[in-house]
Amino acid sequence: MSYPTSPPSYDAIYTQDQSQPVQTQPQVAVHVPQPQMVHGSVVIVGSNKVDIAPCVIVCQSCNYTVSTRTEMRPTFRTHAWAVCLFVCGLWPCCFVPYCMPTCNNIDHYCPKCNAYIGSYMS
Ligand SMILES: [Zn+2]
Repeated sequence: MSYPTSPPSYDAIYTQDQSQPVQTQPQVAVHVPQPQMVHGSVVIVGSNKVDIAPCVIVCQSCNYTVSTRTEMRPTFRTHAWAVCLFVCGLWPCCFVPYCMPTCNNIDHYCPKCNAYIGSYMS
């Protein structure tokens, strides 16, 4: 049993390794789209853009152009303001945040079909 060729010597392998091009990761510029920061306090629910006041909108339920009916809904912020006023000794004014639209969420409904349209988040 004979070997047709002798195995390469250490020097041959070393030289071969040195001649190999260095494998590097290709530099690929990957553009990652950053999420758009939404400024302001208006949160749009669904596709309806509603404001703090009743707004004229095309109801998607009954397809009438209506002026929305609004309802104030107290939030955690409303209660927090009431507690703050109470702690500061202004307890006669504790009800004020519940009457101020800017301290409540405003739910908009269609006056014709009573469908929920959207909310203004304070
Ligand atoms: Zn409607």
